[in-house]
Amino acid sequence: MKLPEKVLIDDVEYKIKEVSHRELQLSNEDLKGEFWGDTRYKPASIRICESMAEDEVKITLVHEIIHAILHERGFDQESDDESMVDGLAHAIRMLAKQNPELIREVLS
Ligand SMILES: [Zn+2]
Repeated sequence: MKLPEKVLIDDVEYKIKEVSHRELQLSNEDLKGEFWGDTRYKPASIRICESMAEDEVKITLVHEIIHAILHERGFDQESDDESMVDGLAHAIRMLAKQNPELIREVLS
């Protein structure tokens, strides 16, 4: 799967980049847990772990996009709630999969 090079969140362009698992862990070592993606706000960028299964890449990208949306809309506290962000990412992926017509007609 080829990732898009960028995503526009409101008026902010987030560059999307695939990086190694090691690079993600190293730059997040002050935080706990294992990282499959991360989002930075200045400069705006989203990094996704390379060599994951296609479905994992997609859900990780949606997860990071939700972080960016929450940040751009001023919901930084909510953006720190990883389980909410992840629940929303899965719900949005399922919504899109189960309702192709809605995506085509309403969200395009
Ligand atoms: Zn997250």
